[in-house]
Formats: sequence, C-alpha cells, structure tokens
Amino acid sequence: MWWATLEQPPAPRAPLDGDLDVDVAIVGAGFTGLWTALFLARHDPSLRVAVLEADVAGAGASGRNGGWASALYPVSFSRIEATHGRDTMLALRAALRDGVTELDEIARSEGIDCDYERGGSLTLARSAVQAARLHSQLEGDRALGAGVDDLVWLDAAAARERCAATDVSGALFTPQCASVHPAKLVTGLASAVSRRGVTIYEQTTVTAIEPGDRWRRPRARSTRGAVRADVVVRATEGYTPSLPDARRAIVPLYSLVVATETLPSSFFDRVGLAHRETFCDARHLIIYGQRTADDRLVLGGRGAPYHFGSRVDASFDAEPDVFAKLESTLVELFGEIPAGIPFHWGGPLGATRDFSPYVRFERERGVAVAGGYVGDGVVMSHLAGRTLADLISGVVTERTSLPFVGNTPRDWEPEPLRWLGINAGLLAADLADRREASTGRPSGFARMLDRLHGN
Ligand SMILES: Cc1cc2nc3c(=O)[nH]c(=O)nc-3n(C[C@H](O)[C@H](O)[C@H](O)COP(=O)(O)OP(=O)(O)OC[C@H]3O[C@@H](n4cnc5c(N)ncnc54)[C@H](O)[C@@H]3O)c2cc1C
Repeated sequence: MWWATLEQPPAPRAPLDGDLDVDVAIVGAGFTGLWTALFLARHDPSLRVAVLEADVAGAGASGRNGGWASALYPVSFSRIEATHGRDTMLALRAALRDGVTELDEIARSEGIDCDYERGGSLTLARSAVQAARLHSQLEGDRALGAGVDDLVWLDAAAARERCAATDVSGALFTPQCASVHPAKLVTGLASAVSRRGVTIYEQTTVTAIEPGDRWRRPRARSTRGAVRADVVVRATEGYTPSLPDARRAIVPLYSLVVATETLPSSFFDRVGLAHRETFCDARHLIIYGQRTADDRLVLGGRGAPYHFGSRVDASFDAEPDVFAKLESTLVELFGEIPAGIPFHWGGPLGATRDFSPYVRFERERGVAVAGGYVGDGVVMSHLAGRTLADLISGVVTERTSLPFVGNTPRDWEPEPLRWLGINAGLLAADLADRREASTGRPSGFARMLDRLHGN
C-alpha cells in the first residue's frame, strides 16, 4: 500500500559495476544506512560515500513499517537506569523525544514530504486488566522521570473523544509520536542522499564484510564487485544473519500489516483519530495502527512465527492466519469497516538477545554497525544513523554517550534452542491474551511479562 500510494515510483538505480574505492561504504539502504549517509554528507560534502543495497532502496523494514515515528525504546527505562544510571536514562529519553521532532525538521529541510503528523499515540485500555496494567505503567514511568508532557491518563470520555474504539475505558496518551508514510520517507531520503553526492548501488548484495587491519583497509565484497573503504557500515537489521560473522547477532522477527481502502469521512466522524493519533491497546501480542493521510486504516501486529536458522524469505511476508486475525481485530476495534482491506504485507525487524539497540564503531578495524531496534526503529534509526556519523567523523556530541553506543549484546543461542525459545515466547504471549480475554484476569504468564516489562 505504501509503495502503491507513492506519487512517483522511484526510478531504479544501477548496480555496482566492478571494484570501487570510497571513503565510506554502507551496506543496506534502509533508514539506518541512508540517515548515516545523509549525516556524513552533511558533515563533510567531499566524503566519497557509497551505499550497497541488495534490492532497492527502502525495500526492507523501512519501506514497509507501520509508520509510527515514536519515542519508544525496546528496553525498559528502568533497566537503562539500573545499568547506566539515572542521568544517562534521562538523556536517552530526551534524545528519543527530540528525535520525533528532529526527524521531521531534517526531512523537511531535505525537501522530503512524508505525511508527518504529530498527533500523539494512544494505548487504549479495553478491559479492566488492561486498565490496571496501564495505570501501573504510568506510575512506573512517572518514577522514571516522565512528566505530564510525556504521558497522561485519559478517562473514558477523553479517550473515546480521540479514538472511539470499542470497550474503551481509558487510555495512556503521549504526544511524542507522529504518523508517517514510511515509503515516502525512505524514498525521499534516498533521493536526498543522491542529491548530496552519495551513490546508491541497487541489486548489489554484499556477501561479506572484511574488517581492516594495520596493512589493509576494510572491504565489502559483493555479487557485483568489491568496495574498499576507510569505513564499512553494516546497516542490514533483520537481514544481518545472512552475513558471515553475524549469524547470531540479531534475529529477524516478522511483523505483519493490513491496510484498508480509503474510508469515508463518516467513518472518522464516528471513530475519531482526528489528528491521526497512532493507536494500540494493552494486549501482550503487540498491535499498532494509524490513520493515513489519505484516510485508510493501517493495522500491524506480531504473531508470525520465527523461522528456523534466522531465515528471511519473501514467502514469510504472508501468514494468512495473522492477516485474518489483524482484519478481525480491526472489526473488533471499530465495528464494521465500510471499505475493503485489500493490502497485506510483512517484513523482518531485528532483535538482539536482550532487545537492546546498538551503535558501534571500531576505528582500528574500520567497521561500524547499528541496529537492534525491534519494532521501534523509525526514530531510533534516525538517531542511530546520526550517532554513527558523529562517531565516524570523530566528533563528540550529546549522542555519542547514549547507552546504545558501544553496546555489544551477547549472541543468540544456537538452533534449535533459538527456534524453540522464540516461538514458545510468541505462543505464550498469544495464550496470555486469550486467557485474559476469556477470564478477565491476568494469567500467570501475563503477570510474569508485566514484571519483565517493569510494570
Ligand atoms: C512490518 C513492520 C512494521 C514496523 N512498524 C514500525 C513502526 O510503526 N514504528 C517503528 O518505529 N518501527 C517499526 N518497525 C521497525 C522499523 O521499520 C525498522 O526498525 C527500521 O526500518 C530498520 O531500518 P534499517 O535501515 O536498520 O533496516 P531495513 O529497513 O530492514 O534495511 C536494511 C536494508 O539492507 C538491505 N540488505 C540486507 N542484506 C544486505 C546485503 N547482504 N547486501 C546489501 N544490502 C542488504 C535490505 O535489502 C534492506 O534494504 C517495523 C518493522 C516492520 C518489518
């Protein structure tokens, strides 16, 4: 749907044609790779930067996501406080909050229109158990420095005024989220970096990243030639396990999405979302929705299986059971949907073993990496790309001491443990939601999850 609604489909770019020598070679033309390229080019316009992309720019998660540009982070702020201290946790919160604004400012300054609307985000309470969970989350967040500008509780009337979904008894609302059209953002970014002199080579699959040493500069070997550079950046997120030396660094988790045709204005008169607020509820198996600028509903969710050996394949983008569940969830939330739901897609996001994002640069080896944003990568990849550009340029900024810098999560377990563990976790989250829905009480697993999430 995102690609079908682009005003102008992007023209294909040529693949790499033989060996190349540049200052910085970036593997992957998603948000991470492209933001890194943009900030490097802004910092030093004379830098020779090449981006190597296996498919087309934006073909990965960046061009397929749910379009939440949020200040969310996949690790709880209580864990960040425990491991890095309060000041660092608060600095991270501020950087993420600022990131929601900066993404818009920088995109605009580069001439990118991505349907950005900062309407905030609602986590709806649709049962007593969900309301209790959200109240406890609010209490926890207040203790971690969240003020009324960050998060407020809306009572049933105020919540329903913003989003009149079924069974809403209240909601947590944060203004720190915007709805965006991800394909407009990522294709706009690709054009912006090209305008700044960066070359993107499409249909160019990198088969290995070879670190440098005292005698040799690092190199990205590809199906179309080898690229020598002072720095090679790995920005491949959910696809990372296909590269040697990184097979267990990240697991690809699939998230799936459905979207409606354009809905009549009478629908939104009834349902609200007047400011294109993003929405979800407090279930365990995450769902995420937005109203698009052209008045569709987009709803994504987890529940697709993890595939043995961290495989990524286009056939995994479609799971009929998950699509059917997302469609029925739309009806469950909003009653009859007066338009078809013709769009279904999915894609891999990346998760490290402890769900913590990372941004690292080893100057001696000439290798930089960033990723591990789980489902919160729209703003985080912007922050990560900007931070990578700082690190590569050798400048110290307020970003270069954030907790994801230098973070080196341990590898995932070998198979079959990985497959068993991840799929058991997905199943347990689904069962916990079902049990909660049928009994009205949190299951033992739900209580354990709540404790893990810090609430
Ligand atoms: C369905 C879905 C919904 C999501 N919804 C949201 C959301 O609403 N909000 C949010 O914040 N986050 C969301 N996310 C997560 C977010 O989209 C990602 O975290 C973010 O886009 C990651 O950007 P990236 O550039 O690191 O990775 P990607 O966009 O995946 O880019 C990696 C690129 O590397 C290329 N590549 C891979 N291997 C190679 C190779 N060997 N050689 C050359 N190129 C290679 C790929 O083709 C791809 O283009 C969602 C993700 C998915 C899949």
